[in-house]
Amino acid sequence: MDGARRFIPAPLRVGTGPTPAELAELVAVDVAAELGRRRDGPADWVLPLVRADVWMQWLVEQSLAREGLDPVSAGPEVFASRSAEVEQEQLERVAGVLAAAGLCPEEGTGPDPATAGATAFVSLYEAGLISFADRVVTSCPRCQTVVADAEVEAGEPASGEEVAVLAVPLVSGEEGGDVDAELFGAELLDGVAALVVPEGHPAAGDEATLPIVGRTVPVVPDPGAAGPFLLVPAHRRDHWSVAAARGLAAPVVMTADGTLTSGPWEGLARYAARQQALEALASAGALVGTRPDRSPSRRCRVCGTAVVDRLGSYWFLASASLAEAAAAAVAAGDVAVSPAVAGPAVGRALAATGDWCVSLQLRAGSPVPVGWCLDCRKPTVAVSGPGSCGACMGELRPDGSALDPWFVAASWAAEVLRDRGGTLVVPASVPEPEVIAVLHRLAGGSLAVAVLPAGAEGSEDHLLDAEAASELAGRLRRDPWTAEAAGVVLGEAS
Ligand SMILES: [Zn+2]
Ligand SMILES: [Zn+2]
Repeated sequence: MDGARRFIPAPLRVGTGPTPAELAELVAVDVAAELGRRRDGPADWVLPLVRADVWMQWLVEQSLAREGLDPVSAGPEVFASRSAEVEQEQLERVAGVLAAAGLCPEEGTGPDPATAGATAFVSLYEAGLISFADRVVTSCPRCQTVVADAEVEAGEPASGEEVAVLAVPLVSGEEGGDVDAELFGAELLDGVAALVVPEGHPAAGDEATLPIVGRTVPVVPDPGAAGPFLLVPAHRRDHWSVAAARGLAAPVVMTADGTLTSGPWEGLARYAARQQALEALASAGALVGTRPDRSPSRRCRVCGTAVVDRLGSYWFLASASLAEAAAAAVAAGDVAVSPAVAGPAVGRALAATGDWCVSLQLRAGSPVPVGWCLDCRKPTVAVSGPGSCGACMGELRPDGSALDPWFVAASWAAEVLRDRGGTLVVPASVPEPEVIAVLHRLAGGSLAVAVLPAGAEGSEDHLLDAEAASELAGRLRRDPWTAEAAGVVLGEAS
């Protein structure tokens, strides 16, 4: 440890550059470091960067598209070299914006981010906190990767999206035949695992026969059901928990890019399949009607494509259990939160954190440090890359997925903090609960969570050029609240 106090704000995305709110936080961190320097000597701040994420991948694809290329025709080597070029351009652009705002995070040689990410993955795996598991995750068919909830934009219900209401015959027939049940996405009919009815419904405990596909499914009561609906557990996260609690099968009937893989519409893309499914149900006399789907549309923030929920096997960090420890530390006062009234809110946000899918399918990025045995099929998890199987010495094939760049950035920041000492300042005005929980665990100690002033108008999506950054930073530095909030942070952190 070199003794300097070191402030580490939330990671900044290189692929987009700072939003006004992010810049405001960085200015407040900078003011805190400056006040600390005047009062107690050396203090600086280190900025973790989110590189090679889905935004950066999009930029690289756009760059290739301008030459009539796509990632597949260009090949992995061209994609990798173009990625490096685009990252360099973006790094320079971000550096220009930060410099114009008078922000100078510490330069120099930190730990290698990819190694930091891999090391953190291995240590969390060995602690039983990362595991390979089946979960319903959200993927973008266009970006071809799992996307985090933060990358999914909920919007107005899409026009033309309809919920089918089907007449589903009961096997016993004792209750007068059919139950009218809703199906979200008629093309998913072959993925139905149960007919769910409200508690006390007379059909509960019976069995029902799915129209067209002819399969029999149980009729199960659920207290959360407002009316009868068909359960599609592999393709809806809220359905998955209902099925998992009852041990129901969850048939996967669609790829992550939205192509049907089983049933009468196999091989069709989702919307074409939906059209055919509705027509087939209507001519079979099983379609009672349709109603507009009033649930919010969910689109990939990067490319605007409607996302797909799908059951799959990925690496998950049990961030809820990390968050529990971090929330307890907030409650006990071991983690400073400024202002103190925000403490319970930060604790709640951390406690509400679900499992974090840390393996993405990005074309460039830090590889998940796992090899799968070709003989015994067990994973070997090691920083140094695939050697031979830890169980049977068999040959390994690389996992092939990439670590979530937010996980890499948090691991890098935690390593800086642990190796060189410092005070971690996590601006909670834009909460990244998973990142906070990981930092808390990996840095293993002093963590100051600061609720810093947002102080910036404008949409989150509005990105700053150098001139706007300079203007905003000047305004924030003149704002007494910035200095005051930063002073409070420093008081609690030192
Ligand atoms: Zn996308
Ligand atoms: Zn093996």
